[in-house]
Amino acid sequence: MEKASMGSSQKKPHALCLPAPTQGHINPMLKVAKILHSKGFHITFVNTEFNHQRLLKSQGSDALHGLPTFCFETILDGLPPPQNPDATQDVESLCKSFDKNFMGPFQSLLTKLNASSSPVTCIVADAVMGFTHDVASEFDIPEIVLWTSGVGCLICIHEYPSLLERGLMPRKDSSTLVNGYLDTLIDCAPTMSGLRLKDMPSYFRNASSFDDYMGEFLCLQVERAKRASAIIINTFHELDHDLLEMLCSTFPPCYEIGPLNLLEKTIVDDSVASLSSSLWKEEDKCLEWLESKPLSSVIYVNFGSLTVMTHEHLVEFCWGLAKSNCSFLWIIRPDLVKGNSSVLPAEFLEQTNSRGMLASWCQQEQVLNHPAIGGFLTHSGWNSTIESISGGVPMICWPYLGDQQTNCWSCYNKWEVAMEIDSDVKREEVAKLVIELMNEERGNELRKNAIDLKNKAQKACAYKIIWIK
Ligand code: UDP
Repeated sequence: MEKASMGSSQKKPHALCLPAPTQGHINPMLKVAKILHSKGFHITFVNTEFNHQRLLKSQGSDALHGLPTFCFETILDGLPPPQNPDATQDVESLCKSFDKNFMGPFQSLLTKLNASSSPVTCIVADAVMGFTHDVASEFDIPEIVLWTSGVGCLICIHEYPSLLERGLMPRKDSSTLVNGYLDTLIDCAPTMSGLRLKDMPSYFRNASSFDDYMGEFLCLQVERAKRASAIIINTFHELDHDLLEMLCSTFPPCYEIGPLNLLEKTIVDDSVASLSSSLWKEEDKCLEWLESKPLSSVIYVNFGSLTVMTHEHLVEFCWGLAKSNCSFLWIIRPDLVKGNSSVLPAEFLEQTNSRGMLASWCQQEQVLNHPAIGGFLTHSGWNSTIESISGGVPMICWPYLGDQQTNCWSCYNKWEVAMEIDSDVKREEVAKLVIELMNEERGNELRKNAIDLKNKAQKACAYKIIWIK
């Protein structure tokens, strides 16, 4: 890829980047945008007005000042103002709003930009923003789709309707979902042998109106993504090449463009390096605290931006961590617990005061690259997974919803960098797995595998840098 000339005679290509409006989607899109900018693209990055306000609040008013060649625009999400302006928005309401409320403002934005001195030459949209394909056709602009989860999840979603039709997938009727059924093997793809019903994206096995809607919504978006000029995925060859090969026959060209977190660090120019997409304010004290800790001695606990747990599960995690006797850095998002009851038992706080650090949000990528971190108790969001792998950190997976189940399966079954913990988590199991991961032979094996993948991730990154120069 030739760097576009900065001279006046040659116009920069102009990419209009539209992430889905949640943390796990905005982060990888901002990385793509920064990388394109470093290759000479003019960027317009679109956030919802709601998230823009949150970013201004968490990052400070100077954070989104933009540059002449990297501009921020906002569109309204069409939803009523939430009760808690600092909490994650309801995912189903957001998805329902995309086709209904986002399309008009997106068309108006394109019309405005096309009337400027730098018309849009390419749309980069999140795969779940499927309405953009019609807009791209209408404006006759090529579109690239960013798939922000793993390839395994993409394949599960793509195969689900056919599995269902062929009777290879139990219907989501509660009478069939009896005990043990979740262990039914699902013949989803030749390269995914051993996949159980419980490892499919949660929407395909849970029987609720939310899961029905989300399952149908995602199947539709994956079909729509076939209209894109190309699909880009935050993964790298050694992780997913077998699955990527499967996609060749049915999808537009699919490119593994990751790990974006490593590429961003290497490629991005100083002018945009500090732009951040963190919707919560990151607490610096986490990194300071890690400085005092020995090598690989701390278990990092973080369930991402969407997971919600019961107070009972929170308490089980508390006592599991206490019983493990390991040092821990635990991020408890203000809206992590249902009903905002994230109050920790006083006795737990007393007991673990000297070896535990609690915070509400942190700079996760830096944390995972800190030498003191020896393991990650995670919800298996795709970004967290790839950030952990590229930091060489083995995991304990407690997937919550959606693609996280499939990511968890890949981590323990395919790449052998993780252990799985029961969804109805109990303190004894937390303590046992944390001790195993941090102090025992099994943990060392997983760490070795994770470091091996980290090296491969670095090589993949180095190769891509040569390729795009
Ligand atoms: N993240 C962060 N600080 C935190 C928790 C999460 O910066 O305290 C970032 C994390 O690095 C990742 C994203 O938020 O890039 C979460 O995305 P992921 O796909 O892992 O999970 P989701 O939040 O979508 O469930």
